[in-house]
Amino acid sequence: MFIVPEKEIAALVTRKDNFDAVEQVFASMAGGSAYNFPVIREAIGHADALYGFKSGFDRAALNLGLKSGGYWPGNAEKGLTNHQSTVFLFDADTGKCRAVVGGNLLTALRTAAAAAVSVAHLARKDSKVLGMIGAGHQATFQLQAVAEQRNFEKVVAWNRTSEKLASLQNVADDLGLPFESVSLDELGAQADVIVTIVSSQAAILNDAQVKPGTHIACMGTDTKGKQEVDANLVARATVFTDEIAQSISIGEAQHAIADGSLKQADISEIGAVINGDHPGRTSDDEVTLFDGTGVGLQDLAVASKVVDLAIEKGIAIEVDF
Ligand code: NAD
Repeated sequence: MFIVPEKEIAALVTRKDNFDAVEQVFASMAGGSAYNFPVIREAIGHADALYGFKSGFDRAALNLGLKSGGYWPGNAEKGLTNHQSTVFLFDADTGKCRAVVGGNLLTALRTAAAAAVSVAHLARKDSKVLGMIGAGHQATFQLQAVAEQRNFEKVVAWNRTSEKLASLQNVADDLGLPFESVSLDELGAQADVIVTIVSSQAAILNDAQVKPGTHIACMGTDTKGKQEVDANLVARATVFTDEIAQSISIGEAQHAIADGSLKQADISEIGAVINGDHPGRTSDDEVTLFDGTGVGLQDLAVASKVVDLAIEKGIAIEVDF
């Protein structure tokens, strides 16, 4: 069995590795050769923690395993990240544990890769302005991954507290892209691609603020009750997702489904676009929306790539187990 410690991961995988792994597993999910098992998430009644696991099996790539972890709100005071996770991979032929991999950075990387995959397949080719809503832990990863999918000329961004936008500005500076802190009205009026990555219980972006032809990647809503954009905007858009069951229950589409303005049959898996079974965007005026809910198979896909690279580079720690 191999162990790949959290601290080794940043230097191991490239954004292209993550993009390819996530794109491939979305395609396998839509093709029926990969599936996620039901998610477990529980308040454990200790340390205010939420703990759970996401698991699945990709029969094509033979990735079997789970990501286990959750949220410990008291961790920051101890100098630790509040979100903690570890990925366990198993040999699909024998059930033996193949690897244990740090899952914290991988979560950010695979979430950013999902948004990037959606932009690659659904955004207008001539998209020039990238709009970012949110400036928390995930946001810089999102900006880095999405920025390389189109020839963007500018980044516009909004956050509840604008001083936190400095981290996004630094990334934009590194990418050589002009950066502007703007109102939500200005963001919607300018952006051709919008990424939302906030932890909110009410819509932040309204339907009327979004211009025709925009692609929106809603990446923050991963729990019942969370919401980033107006349900009318979801109903107006052509909606794609990683997994339909999650989209309608814990994803951004949950609200439009609940008020009846969107039907489950109106939502398509992004994997179908990747496979060529769905045309994706069909006009320059269409608003496309990717509801990125986050699935366990994404974690397994990137973790498996990390393990392969760690073994190849002699970084993986081998233990007799
Ligand atoms: P974070 O706590 O570091 O940042 C939270 C962000 O949300 C900040 O920009 C904050 O200003 C904003 N925010 C919080 N409450 C708000 C409100 N009421 N109105 C407007 N803005 C508000 O969180 P993070 O790690 O960056 O994660 C962001 C979101 O993404 C979370 O909801 C998290 O659960 C989700 N997430 C989703 C996936 C996925 O696969 N889809 C993966 C990881 C995280």
